[in-house]
Amino acid sequence: MDNQDIAFILNEIGEMLEIQGEHPFRSRAYHRAAYAIQGLAEDINDIYKENNLEKIPGVGKGIAERIVELLKTGKLAYYEELQEHVPPGLLQLIGIQSVGPKKAKLFYDKLGIADVEELLKAADEHRLKDLPGMGPKAEENVRAGVLEFQHLRERILLSEAYPLAENIIRQLDEFDFILRVSAAGSLRRMKETIGDIDILAASNEFSKTMDVFCNLSEVSRVLAKGETKSSVITQIGLKVDVRVVSPEQFGAALQYFTGSKEHNIHLREIAKKKGLKVNEYGVFEVKTEKRMGGAAEEEVYNLLGMQWVYPVLRENKGEIEAATLNNLPNIVNLSDIKGDLHVHSNWSDGLNRIKDVARAAKERGYEYVAISDHAEKLKIAGGLTVDDYRRQWEEIEVANKEIGGVTILRGTEVNIDNEGNVDFEDDFLREFDVVTASIHGGFSQNKEQLTRRILRAIYNKHVNVIGHPTGRILGKRPPYLLDLKAIFKAAAETGTFLELNSFPDRLDLKDDYLKEAKDVGVKFVINTDAHSIGQLRYIFYGLATAQRGWLEAGDVINTYSLEEMMKMLGKE
Ligand SMILES: [Zn+2]
Ligand SMILES: [Zn+2]
Repeated sequence: MDNQDIAFILNEIGEMLEIQGEHPFRSRAYHRAAYAIQGLAEDINDIYKENNLEKIPGVGKGIAERIVELLKTGKLAYYEELQEHVPPGLLQLIGIQSVGPKKAKLFYDKLGIADVEELLKAADEHRLKDLPGMGPKAEENVRAGVLEFQHLRERILLSEAYPLAENIIRQLDEFDFILRVSAAGSLRRMKETIGDIDILAASNEFSKTMDVFCNLSEVSRVLAKGETKSSVITQIGLKVDVRVVSPEQFGAALQYFTGSKEHNIHLREIAKKKGLKVNEYGVFEVKTEKRMGGAAEEEVYNLLGMQWVYPVLRENKGEIEAATLNNLPNIVNLSDIKGDLHVHSNWSDGLNRIKDVARAAKERGYEYVAISDHAEKLKIAGGLTVDDYRRQWEEIEVANKEIGGVTILRGTEVNIDNEGNVDFEDDFLREFDVVTASIHGGFSQNKEQLTRRILRAIYNKHVNVIGHPTGRILGKRPPYLLDLKAIFKAAAETGTFLELNSFPDRLDLKDDYLKEAKDVGVKFVINTDAHSIGQLRYIFYGLATAQRGWLEAGDVINTYSLEEMMKMLGKE
């Protein structure tokens, strides 16, 4: 059992307690502990061995005992007992907006509804509206919620799929008869959400390859097992397809199955003009049917007269033209990143102390990290007052002296209110090293109002960065309506940086917008918005999005040294 497994189970316990109508205090305790464990940088097995479970924030004696049972036996009697009273489909229901634990329980108790499909059927047949506390309007809301839920669940976050794929690839790679193995499809292109996981292997022993794949411990169900392709469902419910090809076809097959579809259509058109044919088996001369190559992906691109194209760019958005001119962007890499300007500490709703954040940043090899806690108007997140910040700065000063090798900066995440004002006066804002301004409420305003709010923040000369600019939460909330052209123009004019928030369900600004903004001269900062030191690793997903948005190191201020970056922020 690892951190994610434990967190998953604790979360489900919290949800089952909610459904059972237990005191909210009890379910919240489980959610808090799950959240804390999810964000841990250390392996929970090690924490247990050192006898430190109760030092994890939110983990008291009772929950610690449950964790011990799970770690020791891989099972938890209490969890199994709850599961007997709460069918698993019912847990999905509370994931639907407009359904919560109370309504889920009501639908189950009165109508025996125990999963999403049954709920949709009941709504279609108007069986919900006469239940206590419902009515036609509430029924329609539930129906809309279910449809939205089903639509969103068709794809999963890259951050859920990536570690699983990595794990499978690592295991397959250990067999001598599997010569090459790689992710393909949208996962290899690092799209923010993924349909299925596609993996491609090269081997001369097809059936042996299929055998080891279908027998991996991650597999819960084999959907189809064929000679060259198998599909399985994993323990965590994701579908994985593995294809096996002979080594001399690997490059062509990898190119073909990586896509995107649009990219490949464009490539085939180019091949045609050159008298060539490109497919999953190789590159062929049409006239003679002679095979020209295809063992390596580079061969495919080179035979078509262009540079090899990074998978993250293969969306037919100009990369083929650029590769033909030998002019692909030099995309930003993880090793370019020198710091993080948006990290929360336990002064607001973060988990860790400033010192721990600084040490974790140093361990990542960063030169600097800005503690950017919420400001006072965001009360639910423990927003800080002027006095709080002044005391925080004292702690930052002490930590800077104590730790060394990494510079802790005075940051803040102020709120852009409904009129576009931020929490503090100019004189106070000036004292921060970096001011990030974000929208955290009033999402339902119209496009003009929302745009005006952000523009006002951009024109505030003490605001350096606009945080998570479009406010979307993948799978939960669409981006708010904005006139992005006006915002990009204003950001470029004023030298205000736009954030690429690396949180896996945000990735905001998204790839297409990054490219569009870059083209009009906007500069960016790639932040994690980490609420615990474990989440600093999310920079990986931000980086992938930045690459998909064609960003180069020069476009991103946190690739610059501390001194250069402070100059760019107007702080010298
Ligand atoms: Zn925020
Ligand atoms: Zn934040």
